[in-house]
Amino acid sequence: MPNSVNCSTIPPVKKQTISSLILLACLLAILTLAACSPVAASGEAEPSTAVPPSPSPTATASPPPTLAPPATPTAAPTAVATYTPTPAPPQFSNPPDEALAQTAVAHNAELLRPEPANTGLWQYAANTFIHPLALVVHQDTAYLLDGGRVLALDLARPAAPELLLSPGDVAAGVTVIEPLDLFAAPDGLLVLDRAGDVYRRDWDTAAWSLERDDRPIGDTSSHYYVALDGQADGRFLLETSYKYVMDYVDGQQQALWMLPEARAVDVAAAPGADDIPNVYVLLQALDSDAGSLRLYRDTASVTSFRPPEIITQPRQVVAADTAVYVLDENGRRLLVFAPDNGRLQQIWQLPAAVSAIGQTPDGALLLAGRDRLYFPNQPLRLAAISGGPQLVGPQPHDPAFLAAIGGFSSPIGPNVSPRDLQMPGAPRHYRLGVHQGSDFYWSLGSPVYAVAEGTVIRAMHDYTPPFPAEFFAWQAEAQQLGYTSEEALDFYRGRQVWIQHANGLVSRYVHLDSIDYRIQEGQPVTQGQLIGTVGNSGSPGSLESEDSDVHLHFELWLGDHYLGQFLRPVETRYWIERILLGRAP
Ligand SMILES: [Zn+2]
Repeated sequence: MPNSVNCSTIPPVKKQTISSLILLACLLAILTLAACSPVAASGEAEPSTAVPPSPSPTATASPPPTLAPPATPTAAPTAVATYTPTPAPPQFSNPPDEALAQTAVAHNAELLRPEPANTGLWQYAANTFIHPLALVVHQDTAYLLDGGRVLALDLARPAAPELLLSPGDVAAGVTVIEPLDLFAAPDGLLVLDRAGDVYRRDWDTAAWSLERDDRPIGDTSSHYYVALDGQADGRFLLETSYKYVMDYVDGQQQALWMLPEARAVDVAAAPGADDIPNVYVLLQALDSDAGSLRLYRDTASVTSFRPPEIITQPRQVVAADTAVYVLDENGRRLLVFAPDNGRLQQIWQLPAAVSAIGQTPDGALLLAGRDRLYFPNQPLRLAAISGGPQLVGPQPHDPAFLAAIGGFSSPIGPNVSPRDLQMPGAPRHYRLGVHQGSDFYWSLGSPVYAVAEGTVIRAMHDYTPPFPAEFFAWQAEAQQLGYTSEEALDFYRGRQVWIQHANGLVSRYVHLDSIDYRIQEGQPVTQGQLIGTVGNSGSPGSLESEDSDVHLHFELWLGDHYLGQFLRPVETRYWIERILLGRAP
């Protein structure tokens, strides 16, 4: 049974304004629930234990008259024989938050609180998705990005999700590195890769093509596209390194608007007057969690669009012609702004762990959190869905895991880099790959310390600097493969130390100039113990001189995943600062 669906599933109700339809659906719901109530109500005992042992199946067909309950239909034994456990009906709670209610009053905004009475819920199998980054809808299918994978979720009927794309897949001849954002374009599903490519999956043929091919450019500039959206013919890429929005329609690339000095978080476009799209850009301050939302049209920023300064820890923006939605406070709130002047209309208090929002073609809002889709204003949409692809093992983008990491300290100094390009997940165009750690720029010979107690599992005391030809060979390999191989990554790390920690995490100290003689494989280390000194070993800068591009490159790993993988750049920064610097949430 690939898709076993809860019998309390209600067919989608599209026109909620017709009250009689709701009544009918309620009646249906009651009837449907009643039909499976003996199982759904108890939800614990195996029905087979209630059936008295019988020598043969045929014996139950003619039980002694005194034992036969009058209401039991003769088909009951057959039903028991084919019984499979029914998932519990999905439930959630979202108790009122007094502080948020006061915020709403202070901003003269309506407070909305999704709860079972007004919001439907589809519960998927455990670890189907953990922390989605994007959710777009085309016709009756939602496309969700989580764990670097693109999943298709049927909205017309509850069904196991379909896996469309994963890291390592080859799409239109290009090896997928790590998808970062989605857009449902008229001609297909667009997928932005951290490497800068955009793949398109044709709606009709399901064939992949390259909408934007970044890797053969082979340039050494440091562009970092973090989000993608579109409107009509426009395709908008949000860049966080040089801070601009680019339109790349019809093979033409054009930087449209330079952005203020801030972190680029997300971009959303909506139909505007005179067929000129309204493009909303969500930003976060360089030195705080404060967010801001700007509207751009044609050639300039629209200064009459001025939302109140309420956004904190911004994560996503979705734009429609009637409202602009901002997911903020790390997924705990949804702010609804007027699309023309930015007036705050509503604050939604979200159920825990909503990480992506999306909108159906008819304007209904969808919320996605761990293994769940929420349907605001559609309380009858309830389903528990099993089957489908699931993530296995601890995941680096699991907020519960990340929040549980405690007691770590910085490997060097009290700050992480202010530049997103020096954080995990940033592209590395020179080797067609992705940066897997955090760069700390300190001078040659600065001491590097263990971030927590643990055991040394690798210490390259015998490292010898490679010849320049080796750099060129690895670069040639990357060009040939279209990505950086594991062997090449290890080469580029240079002189390195790895420490295994108790919670499954491994810390790596990379590009070292020297390693302390007490750091030996198999030996324990204490938190704050000297590891070695900062250098540039293995980095391309080491080809130039001993002090070119000197920095500590520091990585945290969970199994085969680096920390920062499958997260938005602002989220990566949030967690790295919290783990290494002890910043409060
Ligand atoms: Zn680095």
